Amino acid sequence: MIYILGHKNPDTDSVSSVIAYSDFLKKEGKNAEPITLGKINNETKFVLDYFGIKIPEIKTELPQNAEVILLDHNEKKQSIDNLDDLNLIEVIDHHKINLKTEKPINVCIKPLGSSCTLIAEKFLEKNIDISSQIAGLLIAGIISDTLFFRSPTTTEKDKDILKKLNKIAKIENLEEFSLNMFQAKSDLGNIKVEDLIQLDYKEFDFNGHRWGIGVMETTNKQYALERKKEIKEKLKLLKKRNNLEGVIFTIIDILEEKSWTILAEENEKNVFQKVFSAVDEEGLLFVDKLVSRKKQIVPKLEDYFRSK
Ligand code: MG
Ligand code: MG
Ligand code: MG
Repeated sequence: MIYILGHKNPDTDSVSSVIAYSDFLKKEGKNAEPITLGKINNETKFVLDYFGIKIPEIKTELPQNAEVILLDHNEKKQSIDNLDDLNLIEVIDHHKINLKTEKPINVCIKPLGSSCTLIAEKFLEKNIDISSQIAGLLIAGIISDTLFFRSPTTTEKDKDILKKLNKIAKIENLEEFSLNMFQAKSDLGNIKVEDLIQLDYKEFDFNGHRWGIGVMETTNKQYALERKKEIKEKLKLLKKRNNLEGVIFTIIDILEEKSWTILAEENEKNVFQKVFSAVDEEGLLFVDKLVSRKKQIVPKLEDYFRSK
């Protein structure tokens, strides 16, 4: 059995690509099982319901020496807890590389907007049939990660592949479908503040300066803005608990392509203001067109800390 898994705090791109790649491997005659490392978010739930696909099983550990393939991540700390005891055979991803292996493995990392684009390419290259369900799932992954082509991570390849996939999936109104996805993601009810922060949270090491960065992509920014006080308090606690130098939480308005960042303390505020020329709006740092952690926030902070 080959286990296919995405990153912790699973998003639609990781869950969709994991399910689609398992389908690909099965069609190649292999025994593959998609798993997730945690509860899926409301956007992913909407997508799986829409296409009638069952939610992959949650696993936090796998049996010793089990064969695994990592999708949509390549960093150990974003992966399954006992990765060191497993037999890593392949990585497919679109993030910066932070990977060390004991033996040669298959690696496919490309600067594309979504891991689902990479999986679709694999189907197309090998001329393997894509079912309409899987095509729809791949489309959803591309829409989610590129914010339906609003994010600067978007490439021509993503657009081209999505068009090809929709010849199979035949989603009539993609604009409406994407809005429904984003609305599902934004519908958080009375989620606990610690869970809100963890929905899309990753930690980074910038030249020895360790930062935690949570993002919330939403069509309802008011929801998070109203909770900014409790979010800030939790960021402070998280910073202490994980012994970090900085913790921030960026609220991204998907449709307006703007963001507001809540910062744990003054230190983060100073850095963020310097790096992004952010405008202070009642304690929140506003930046126009800042919508991508991967392509904008992380590289700029990396650059800033290079000489520190
Ligand atoms: Mg992801
Ligand atoms: Mg992704
Ligand atoms: Mg994302």
